[in-house]
Amino acid sequence: MTMDEARRILIVEDEPAIADTLIYALKTEGFAPEWCATGRAALAALAARTDRPFALVVLDVGLPDGSGFEVCKTIRKASTVPVIFLTARNAELDRVLGLEIGGDDYLVKPFSPRELTARVKAILRRVPAAEAAVAAALGGVVTKGEFQLDEARCAIAYRGVALELTRYEYRLLKALAAQPGRVFSRDQLMTAGWEDPGASLDRTVDAHIKMLRAKLRAVAPDADPIQTHRGLGYSLREP
Ligand code: CA
Repeated sequence: MTMDEARRILIVEDEPAIADTLIYALKTEGFAPEWCATGRAALAALAARTDRPFALVVLDVGLPDGSGFEVCKTIRKASTVPVIFLTARNAELDRVLGLEIGGDDYLVKPFSPRELTARVKAILRRVPAAEAAVAAALGGVVTKGEFQLDEARCAIAYRGVALELTRYEYRLLKALAAQPGRVFSRDQLMTAGWEDPGASLDRTVDAHIKMLRAKLRAVAPDADPIQTHRGLGYSLREP
């Protein structure tokens, strides 16, 4: 990723006052924000042929032509571009739903522009760093019990079935699967999955584990390889 690519950010927000604040804050930090007021315009901007793709999308949940969640679902069919949701509601359901459909982070309105730019920078920092670390490891495919970990491809298969994981699900499962039987606290999992855990919401580990479980259940309905240790954290059952 070049510096130029790292700086192009798509803002999808129908309230001009909020969009103006975001554009100003991002420009001040050296980013090149572009603004769309509808989901349809955002998808068109993302699909437009360019040699400079967007590095990140800031996506309002309440858009005039539908829900930001639907827009994110459509984005995720073709792209892993990081998405930060903006919402007026601080509902747990929204938060889980946002993560479930592949959002990377969440900001509840009203938020300070500084908070947003800090999240944007944190996400853009960890994307190339994590990919470089994984590429450097290049350990080939490692089998841990029922899991096959392919670090070079950032991929994990369970019982021979390739899992479609978000970035955080992948990192959490990789940490758990690397040491079956070891109990990880939520803090430890935050550290494993997020390079800047302080910038993320406290209980996101639980939400991601919930999603991981659902994906594992889709492969093997009767097995639950992730064990919850009340008050302690999570482990992967030993094979
Ligand atoms: Ca809105």
